[in-house]
Amino acid sequence: MDARSVVRTKRDGGELSEVEMRWFLEAYVRGEVADYQAAALVACIFTRGMKPGELALWTRAMLESGSRLSFDELPQKKADKHSTGGIGDKVSIPLAPAVAACGVAVPMISGRGLGHTGGTLDKLEAIAGFRVRLSEDEMHRVIGRTGVAFGAQTAELVPADRKLYQLRDATGLVESIPLIASSIMSKKLAEGLDALVLDVKFGSGAFLPEVERGAELARVMLELARSMGVKASAFHTAMDRPLGAAVGHALEIAESIECLEGGGPADLRELVLLQGGEMLRLCGRAPTLDDGQRQIAEAIDSGRARKVFELVVQEQGGDPKVVSDPSRLPRASHVDPWKAESPGFLAFRDLREVGWAAAALGGGRVKIEDVIDPAVGLVWRRRVGEHVERGDVLCEIHHQAGRGADACRAHLAAAISIGERFEVSPLVRETWSG
Ligand code: URA
Repeated sequence: MDARSVVRTKRDGGELSEVEMRWFLEAYVRGEVADYQAAALVACIFTRGMKPGELALWTRAMLESGSRLSFDELPQKKADKHSTGGIGDKVSIPLAPAVAACGVAVPMISGRGLGHTGGTLDKLEAIAGFRVRLSEDEMHRVIGRTGVAFGAQTAELVPADRKLYQLRDATGLVESIPLIASSIMSKKLAEGLDALVLDVKFGSGAFLPEVERGAELARVMLELARSMGVKASAFHTAMDRPLGAAVGHALEIAESIECLEGGGPADLRELVLLQGGEMLRLCGRAPTLDDGQRQIAEAIDSGRARKVFELVVQEQGGDPKVVSDPSRLPRASHVDPWKAESPGFLAFRDLREVGWAAAALGGGRVKIEDVIDPAVGLVWRRRVGEHVERGDVLCEIHHQAGRGADACRAHLAAAISIGERFEVSPLVRETWSG
């Protein structure tokens, strides 16, 4: 087998065989296929695409490039959810303990933020001491005691994706449906799940902003889950405005705690109930989605979900007192209002700019090694589609003595427009139930 012949097959629009794909990925993981050869193959997949059967075999080969998790010792069913990410998306943080409180285990492997988006792991690390680099043994211990574990991808888990994702990021080859779908699904299916809920975002803050491309990604990922025997559903949800009000690591933890106390923004609670309820339904813990949502709401409103979160924080080395006292979270030295310059209806013309605004304060990374400041960020005081007057506070800027504040304001100005009344897109555009 030769890397050049595999690249040539795809370059000329052919279909790769299972043997070619397995050989290529295994040799790449061992370092016997060079990055430039892998980049050539990825570029050909990017332009030529993959047939459904070919993509299923490619995803399976990625999944089997390393070790897989198995939580067979747990009596509960196992489920997870994956979001394609965006601005202020903290759903996983209240959702996982709420689902665990309803009797379904959640072995969640999450990612870090890069570019304009934030990552669940970075948000959790805003809690002093919280460790996300769990060994497999630690993952088993935490999930055994609490029903949830928030872990990071290890070197052993899907190493082909680890290498390919970095390569795609460095070569501008991220936005391809087969490459995104195989990357996400190989990682999620390595968690040993019974069920998976996918939250595919649309709008200017999403990976794939166009509605049609997002819908296609959802359908492709659902087909991959089906071909691997995992029950899955997908929701197509809005990322053309921030989710919730807080954007920034510690601020989003505080908002997640509010949600776990039965409060917080309505859109955050709606997605937690919907996706958590669907996880329960797929695992057979709820006869209908409505019943699943009712169970999740009860777990939150009774305080059981919050208790599970407190326990997870403690098990993962974090300060559990933050859950009852969020003022223990890191706080920025200054908070300034950012005000409307004219009256009208608030719209986000480019939501990625809100992510860059938070990053400019020190709350984001350009390179994976960059250190982030968990305390900084934004809290929106007005929602999309709301009418505002000149001088109304649109958001608060939480900054460290002015660091990055001018750049933040410039990004905010590029992010929003205030003008005529318009129709706000629904939070949930489409649902595909498995
Ligand atoms: N998230 C992933 O894990 N992989 C992608 O390719 C894109 C987003």
